[in-house]
Amino acid sequence: MEPQRSPLAEVKGNVQPKVPPPPAPSRLPLSGSRLKRGPEPMESASEPAKKRTRGLGTAPQTDTSRPRAPRLSTAPQRHSQAAEAQTKHSSLFRLSSPCIHFSSPRAAAQRFPRKTGPFPPAPAPKNQKPVPTVPAQKPAASAAPAAGGKKPGKRPAWDLKGQLCDVRAELQCCREKTQTLDRENQQLRDQLQEAQQQAQALGAERCSLEGELARVQAQAEQGQRELGSLRARVLELEERLGMQEGLVHMLQREQLELQEERRTLATRLEEQERRLQASEAALSHSQAEAESLRQETVAQAALLAERGDRLHGLEMERRRLHNQLQELKGNIRVFCRVRPVLAGEPTPPPGFLLFPPGPGGPSDLPTRLSLSRSDDRRATLTGAPAPPTRHDFSFDRVFPPKSGQDEVFEEIAMLVQSALDGYPVCIFAYGQTGSGKTFTMEGGPEGDPQLEGLIPRALRHLFSVAEEMSSQGWTYSFVASYVEIYNETVRDLLATGSRKGQGGECEIRRAGPESEELTVTNARYVPVSCEREVRALLRLAHQNRAVARTAYNERSSRSHSVFQLQISGEHAARGLQCGAPLNLVDLAGSERLDPSLALGPGERDRLRETQAINSSLSTLGLVIMALSNKEPHVPYRNSKLTYLLQNSLGGSAKMLMFVNISPLEENVSESLNSLRFASKVNQCVIGTAQANKR
Ligand code: ADP
Ligand code: MG
Repeated sequence: MEPQRSPLAEVKGNVQPKVPPPPAPSRLPLSGSRLKRGPEPMESASEPAKKRTRGLGTAPQTDTSRPRAPRLSTAPQRHSQAAEAQTKHSSLFRLSSPCIHFSSPRAAAQRFPRKTGPFPPAPAPKNQKPVPTVPAQKPAASAAPAAGGKKPGKRPAWDLKGQLCDVRAELQCCREKTQTLDRENQQLRDQLQEAQQQAQALGAERCSLEGELARVQAQAEQGQRELGSLRARVLELEERLGMQEGLVHMLQREQLELQEERRTLATRLEEQERRLQASEAALSHSQAEAESLRQETVAQAALLAERGDRLHGLEMERRRLHNQLQELKGNIRVFCRVRPVLAGEPTPPPGFLLFPPGPGGPSDLPTRLSLSRSDDRRATLTGAPAPPTRHDFSFDRVFPPKSGQDEVFEEIAMLVQSALDGYPVCIFAYGQTGSGKTFTMEGGPEGDPQLEGLIPRALRHLFSVAEEMSSQGWTYSFVASYVEIYNETVRDLLATGSRKGQGGECEIRRAGPESEELTVTNARYVPVSCEREVRALLRLAHQNRAVARTAYNERSSRSHSVFQLQISGEHAARGLQCGAPLNLVDLAGSERLDPSLALGPGERDRLRETQAINSSLSTLGLVIMALSNKEPHVPYRNSKLTYLLQNSLGGSAKMLMFVNISPLEENVSESLNSLRFASKVNQCVIGTAQANKR
């Protein structure tokens, strides 16, 4: 970058070449004694030079135009003459150049050291002897005293010739001196003329230098102004520089921070890269593993599909065999259950109820029951009471009082499986009031899992089997409803809100004009998928019964409770569907009203209820008989119960009837009635059931 040139330097540069060249060396020998000079132009001309010297300090020492003392004497005289001339010259300079004063000839000599200076000593004419300032020494032989020399002794007055000779010599000397002075005068005149010319030239030069000076001053002012503006600019730039420096510091700090951050990031990056490499290695390893696993999976899938096919075949075979087994056991089965004697009840006499072992001995499951009844009206001829009459009954299974709920359920779990396989299932609890029907169906007081009845156990079993079947591709759904039929009126036990306890007007209708499926209008059908939901439904049904209870009528004993579960199964992959209802029916008390009792207003209502109950139970028996006898007409419509259950009683259905017996002797008559009814049912065989497969 080119350095900025200062205006001052510019001025110098401008001025330097303008210095007038030194005047031509004058050959004029100046004689201080002869030179009369007024104020010379040199004085005024030297003024700008002086100013330049002051102002710029670099004015060249160009005072070469100043006259030098002429060398007028010959070599031997040079010293004294030079001293004289120097003295004159100094006085001349003191006059003409007051500002330049040489205090000594030596100083002047130092000032003008050059031999080729402007005023070299005037050479003496070659043909002329140097002019002596003193009279030439007369030879010793001469009597005339030499001018300036040691005067000879005074001639005696009588030596006129000698005196004349002296006068002549002196005259001759004066003439020579006069001639010399004339020549010198002439030279000085010439020199003066030349000096005047030089003065004129110097005046002109001074004018031009003044102009130059003015221009330089203007330039200097301009330079000053520029300098001022440049200083301001410098200040501004310095200020900006300060700001920039601050910025630079800040940026440097930032740079340091960024470098630190970069180092940190670089470290992290390295770490990440290491991790990435490790991950990539792990990934490639995993990919290889995944590939082998995929191949294995494909092989497993093929194997699984093959096994699935085999499993499905086995499942179908299982269903077929299961059904065969159920058919062999009978599509209508009757189980007899005797409840235990409750606290506060009289202990029955020994031998009142007996459970004879089967043909295989005590290890056989009990299937027989003997009930002994002593008839007081029958007396022997001796008047002694007649021995009790023993009534033997045989059923598919007999449960003595000590049998638990789990033991009872084990026997019907196979039937529940049939419902999942697509066969309609009906399980009834038949017996007099207080014989344990509700206990068998719903269970004892809530909270004791051992006392759970068939309904919660059956549903738990269904849910768990459905879960297992899902692994084989089967999807099951369950929808529950719970109604009671009281006096040939259907009521919803799952009603909620304002309908709670009332049940509303429910009617049994076909689901569609062409449909065989029956539905109860205004009844709630609730999808269930877990035990908790089922327990909630049973609790709700219990509450609905409690609200409807009247003071004189234990309605739950006088009505049939029908819990219906519609099971729907689908095997989407194979396009298979199956569905069947599972019905768990807690029948109304089968006891008959004693005709010997007086009929009050309340008893009349009760009689009507009883007749309705008996009628529906008889109809159930008749329907079973008709089905067993394969009669063309099955009187389903004779009661709401059989009408509602008609799809679960037909040829493909499986039916199980629990006949619940009281262990008390006082209930022996009703027990016998129940056992007889159950025996009739047990003798029925309903044709081969057909699974409801589509
Ligand atoms: P039902 O419904 O036939 O009228 P319940 O089921 O209400 O009869 O039973 C009447 C009473 O007998 C209830 O207190 C019940 O707890 C009890 N009970 C019935 N069966 C059994 C049994 N197997 N074990 C214990 N208690 C029973
Ligand atoms: Mg009951």
